[in-house]
Amino acid sequence: MSESTATGVAAIARNTSGVGITLDHVTKVYPGTEAPAVDDFSMSVQPGELIMFVGPSGCGKTTTMKMINRIIEPSSGSIAIDGRDVLSLNPNELRRHIGYVIQQIGLFPHMTIAENIAVVPRLLGWNKQKTADRVDELIETVQLDAATFGSRYPKQLSGGQQQRVGVARALAADPPVMLMDEPFGATDPITREKLQAEFLRLQESIGKTIIFVTHDFDEAIKLGDRIAVLSERSQIEQFDTPANILAAPANDYVRSFIGHGAALKRLALIPVSEARLAAAQGTSGLATVRADATLRDALDTLVLLGVPSIDVIDAGGRAVGSLTVERISDVLGADIPGVTAPDTRAAGA
Ligand code: ADP
Ligand code: MG
Repeated sequence: MSESTATGVAAIARNTSGVGITLDHVTKVYPGTEAPAVDDFSMSVQPGELIMFVGPSGCGKTTTMKMINRIIEPSSGSIAIDGRDVLSLNPNELRRHIGYVIQQIGLFPHMTIAENIAVVPRLLGWNKQKTADRVDELIETVQLDAATFGSRYPKQLSGGQQQRVGVARALAADPPVMLMDEPFGATDPITREKLQAEFLRLQESIGKTIIFVTHDFDEAIKLGDRIAVLSERSQIEQFDTPANILAAPANDYVRSFIGHGAALKRLALIPVSEARLAAAQGTSGLATVRADATLRDALDTLVLLGVPSIDVIDAGGRAVGSLTVERISDVLGADIPGVTAPDTRAAGA
């Protein structure tokens, strides 16, 4: 089952239970409006890929996504999931096979957490035992305790916990495709970071094909295998990996999304092992960085400690080389704005 020899798109290396999605010249004109909300949108998504749609409010992200599970019918164009034209499928049947998570969570307030998660399995006619087992498994999957939370009602949970239940409910029938519309948008920054980290870990193991909408570019960088940067009418300004978009934004529009600090954002995506290491210096303790950390971690450590060099250590704590600010910036092929190597600072500082 291992496909780990593949390089390129990160999703390929992952075990996938997902399927491909193709949108071909998809347009949506809402009744009574002149301009299309989505204009001639084409995209091909590989099985198991996590695709981020990022763009400003009103640019058509939600409309594009809702056409995939036919909550909204396209005005023209075609959409295929796993090679099958979704317009030829029964819409209710289709939706049962696509997990859907939205910002407003949409848990049924009069149902317990267990009942909420069981909604789709019930529609699919699963028996009681299979449903109950799946519900328990899913509550644990999203890091909640089944015995404690299964019998509670949504209002007895925090926003972050409710959002986890929303994810669990979308996963209930093990759908190959998940659509997520600003799922963590309503949570506070700390909860949001936690949910993002959990979600990434979860995706490592489940490998769904996911389209994830956000207006937060940093969230897109952190989570996505590929990012589609969208402008008005869902026009694709750039569709590429986070690293490639940061390294080579297609135009000023994309650049405006990246904002300042593109270099630092890129470093957060590059493992220490990508740098050309110097000989180990025998630094110890705090002044080291793990080989599996990112260059951003290495740079933070160098700058925080104000040292010229740190050793890179392997999982066994053995020094395998060392890094300086120069060697880190060499990886980017350019200077890192705003960062000065500690060893070039005024002496005695
Ligand atoms: P986003 O999710 O990126 O914020 P939407 O897809 O919700 O954008 O909306 C895209 C455009 O379509 C907006 O101009 C919005 O006002 C319009 N729109 C969305 N839903 C409807 C609707 N039901 N009827 C008419 N216009 C709509
Ligand atoms: Mg929206």
